[in-house]
Amino acid sequence: MTDTRLKHYGWGREGEGMSEEERKFVLGRYHVKFGTDEFDTVAVPGLEELSLREPRIVPPASLAPFCTSERYDRAAHTYGKSYPDYVRAMLGNYDSAPDVVAYPRNESEISAVMDWAGSVGASLTPFGGGSSVCGGVEPRVDGIKHKAAVSLDLRNLSKVIEVDSLSRVASIEAGAYGPFLENQLKPHNFTLRHFPQSFEYSTLGGWIATRSGGHFASLHTHIDDFVESLRVVTPAGVLETRRLPGSGAGPSPDRMFIGSEGILGVISRAWMRLQPRPKFRAGASVRFPSFFDAACAVRAVAQAGLYPSNCRILDPQEAFNTGAADGSAAIMVLAFESGDHPWTPGSRVHLSAAPTTAGRRSPRQPGTRISKARQASGATRLFGCPMRANF
Ligand SMILES: Cc1cc2nc3c(=O)[nH]c(=O)nc-3n(C[C@H](O)[C@H](O)[C@H](O)COP(=O)(O)OP(=O)(O)OC[C@H]3O[C@@H](n4cnc5c(N)ncnc54)[C@H](O)[C@@H]3O)c2cc1C
Repeated sequence: MTDTRLKHYGWGREGEGMSEEERKFVLGRYHVKFGTDEFDTVAVPGLEELSLREPRIVPPASLAPFCTSERYDRAAHTYGKSYPDYVRAMLGNYDSAPDVVAYPRNESEISAVMDWAGSVGASLTPFGGGSSVCGGVEPRVDGIKHKAAVSLDLRNLSKVIEVDSLSRVASIEAGAYGPFLENQLKPHNFTLRHFPQSFEYSTLGGWIATRSGGHFASLHTHIDDFVESLRVVTPAGVLETRRLPGSGAGPSPDRMFIGSEGILGVISRAWMRLQPRPKFRAGASVRFPSFFDAACAVRAVAQAGLYPSNCRILDPQEAFNTGAADGSAAIMVLAFESGDHPWTPGSRVHLSAAPTTAGRRSPRQPGTRISKARQASGATRLFGCPMRANF
């Protein structure tokens, strides 16, 4: 991660954003989509223009070293990243800004903030990367039970603590952002291989607390698949679930916390199952005349038990918006990978199953079996669905 701080409004770090060329491209697409040359524009208020109420609580001296009520911190912890969040922030509505933002460095500090917040009648909201799209990080104040609000940002707990190469698991602190987490696993030749679209600016704890889904996965899609055990700081103490390869003994305590959005406690770290880094890859983009045709093919791929590493459809509009197509076709991105063996007799059979006459292709991974199989075939149908493949 760079040292540049995250934007208090919007995606990414201060100073980052679309280039003028990218802006023109995106706006050009919107002009076509909405059939107009003109849009009303609203200027986003700058940090100094925001009106924030005076903090209603002040942390005790013991918490002061890692707590703040600075304008930037409060503004940056007011909202997640949903459309309504952006609209309210754009209109300068920061009524729900937290009074205090805490950046604990260990579990004792999490507990201390939890105790203090409880004692002063403040709500406590765990904050990972703040990429929530369902209001999960917005502080709550109801004036009755919660008279003030504290946001608890886990970014200082970001280390991979231990890697067990034999069992392929690692103990990882919950505040690790996706890229930093992967960078720490790389020297061990492992990957968590969990890639929500928000990967760059979301955290392990956030993924677990929201039961997030990875984009580039069809077998291990949800974070649940990777959680071996959890440590959670609760108002009643620290809880650690047992590290088991699997258990059928009653309800799973891990599952109780996975997807709990932080309401039961603060996830401080987790033992996560790892995968070897992929050595062999094969991929293709496949054009379909309609979204429905592409969806039929996805269903067929899923039901065939092929488990591609990536199987994703861009509908014609999304493909158009991203510049991947002209709006007349849906695009399926299909990929296979392995850290163990080249791809594979099974996928070769399936991908070349439908006989074929045409299709524009350019080799993406020359030498992989899928590409070779596909180049040798030239299908117009994938699992019975009309298609056009680009390799
Ligand atoms: C552009 C974009 C793309 C996205 N793509 C995907 C996607 O592909 N797949 C997907 O599933 N979601 C996606 N999301 C939604 C969001 O990124 C996920 O929900 C993500 O898991 C949130 O992680 P975070 O670290 O940002 O958590 P936050 O947004 O900070 O928090 C999310 C929730 O978890 C709680 N929480 C956070 N950390 C902890 C912790 N350590 N202990 C207890 N509770 C905690 C918070 O209180 C909140 O309720 C996307 C969002 C955006 C803006």
